[in-house]
Order: sequence, then structure tokens, then C-alpha cells
Amino acid sequence: MTAGLYCSRARLHTLVLERNIFGGQVAVTSHIENYPGFPCIAGAELARQMQECAFRFGATARIAEATSLSRQDNGRFLLQTSVGTVQAKAIIVATGGQHRLLGVPGEKEFFSQGVSYCAVCDGPFYEGAQVVVVGGGDSAIQEAIYLTQYAEKVTVVHRRQGLRASKLLEDEARRNSKIAWALGRVVTEIRGHDMVEEVLVKDVASGREEAISAEGVFIYVGMLPNTKFLQGLVALATDGFLLTGEAMRTSVPGIFAAGDVRHKEVRQIATAVGDGAQAALAAVDYVRHLEG
Ligand code: NAP
Repeated sequence: MTAGLYCSRARLHTLVLERNIFGGQVAVTSHIENYPGFPCIAGAELARQMQECAFRFGATARIAEATSLSRQDNGRFLLQTSVGTVQAKAIIVATGGQHRLLGVPGEKEFFSQGVSYCAVCDGPFYEGAQVVVVGGGDSAIQEAIYLTQYAEKVTVVHRRQGLRASKLLEDEARRNSKIAWALGRVVTEIRGHDMVEEVLVKDVASGREEAISAEGVFIYVGMLPNTKFLQGLVALATDGFLLTGEAMRTSVPGIFAAGDVRHKEVRQIATAVGDGAQAALAAVDYVRHLEG
């Protein structure tokens, strides 16, 4: 949305495609405390405000999924989408990532029957219940804290003793009496009948297995990049994230990238917004040169 804002302010004909809801991961994040200017804001509200800003200067919004991208003989790009074809002089890829699956028995079978990847969407269904959160990153710990508003007990299952999440989030979670810890453990199976009833975990060190009673399992074990539609055209890192160089340029002139879809160290809203501004300014420069 930042790239859309900057491109339209530069008076380029700007189309912003979104396959689902504007705001991406931000829109389904419980609350955000580290985006300057907003001491504490619900993710959905920040996404709404960003969307309002993004389209103030004439960018067009369309709900569509990009399915493939190619370059034509005239140098323009041809983007196939779920609702038709788009031609463009430059492309900014800000497609982010999607949740990585845990890949254990029961995960797919109980999806929406207790297994969830979105605490904001499904948390209210677990009023007074026992739930498990899998993962040790910022998302897992932030959403575990959020879930304590509803659940009676939230057990965090993480494969190592040390968390990956920021110290601030860890400290807040450690102070929360509703959060229990099952560290150094991996989930081996999610079990139940019609709905989830328990999560089987294995102690990594001893190999000992135990069952944790839970009505809900929230899985936050990282992200996979949404770059499938670019395969074969743009250089990707071995993990599928987009390689970028100076000014968010990819290996293909005219294609730029911004945000979590990039191969990079830090994934924050603040850095994604910075990437979006930088990618847009580079794209504007590229289009101006094309047009002489
Ligand atoms: P992440 O930082 O990649 O963390 C994923 C967690 O899942 C890690 O703790 C990892 O364990 C664990 N994991 C990965 N594969 C697993 C598997 N197969 N089985 C069990 N556990 C597994 O992902 P994230 O938490 O979704 O965050 C994504 C990015 O967004 C990060 O850059 C994060 O900083 C950012 N973010 C920031 C905030 C914030 O600033 N408040 C909030 C949300 C997200 P290991 O630690 O052992 O690798």
C-alpha cells in the first residue's frame, strides 16, 4: 500500500492488486505497538488507515490474484491474474508470505475444527478454553498473549528452550499467569473426534511423549513466500524469497520488491513501509527513463 501511495503521488497510473484483504498479515494481527505514530493500534485499524491513505491519490484497487508474470517483446510486463490480464511498464512485488504448515497428522483434518492460523479471527471462539500455540517467534508469542483474553490457559509449544521472539514480548508472556510453557518439545500429532481434543508433544531431549488437553491449536511456525507466480522469471533465494539489490531492484529490470516477500533479515511493518517507498521511487525512476 505504501508503494501504491508513492506511485500514485508521482502521477503514474497505479493498480494495486490484492487477492484477499488489504493489509495482509497486519490486518489479522491483534495489536501493534511498534509502528511509530501509533502507540498501540489494532492491526485491522492500522490496515484500514493505510488503505485509506494508499488510494487517496488515484491508485486503483482490485481484488485479484497474480498467477503468472512474463515480459513481452515491447518490454512491457504481462501479468496474468485470476480476473484477467494486466499490462504494466513496471511491477512492484509486495506479496508477503503465507503461514508455514506444521505438517503433522491431524493438522489438515482439524483445520477450522480447532486448528487455526489466526488468533484474531478465531480467538473469541475459545472463551474459557485451553489452547495450544505452536512456535517461538514474534507471531506465536504476541498471539499467545492475545489469546489469554479469551482462553483460560494457553500453552506455548516450542521446539527449543530459547524463544526467537523479542525480549519485550517474551517478558510480557512470562509475566502472564495464563501462559504455560512446553519448551524443547515438538508437536507430533493433533487428536480429537469431531473437534480437536488434545495435542501430542515429544520432548526433544528425552523423546518422552505427553498429551496436552486443548480445544484449539494456533500454529505460528513462520512464513513461506508468495513467489510462485514469479518462478523462472526472477532470481529467488533457495528458500523462495525474492533476492533484491540496491533500491529494491530484483534481477529483472522493471521488477521491484518490497516487504516480507524479500530475502532479508528484519520483517517489520516499519521496514516493509520503507521498502515500499523505496521500491516505488525506483519504479518511478525506471518508468520515467523508459518514457524518455
Ligand atoms: P519466525 O520469526 O520465522 O518464527 C517461526 C518460529 O516457528 C520459530 O521460533 C521457529 O523455531 C518455529 N518453527 C519453524 N518451523 C517449525 C517447525 N517445523 N516446527 C516447530 N517449530 C517451527 O516467524 P513469525 O513469528 O511468523 O514472524 C515472521 C516475521 O514477522 C519475523 O521477522 C518477525 O520478527 C516478524 N513479526 C514481528 C512482530 C512484532 O514486531 N511484534 C510480530 C509478528 C511478526 P526456531 O526459533 O527454532 O527456528
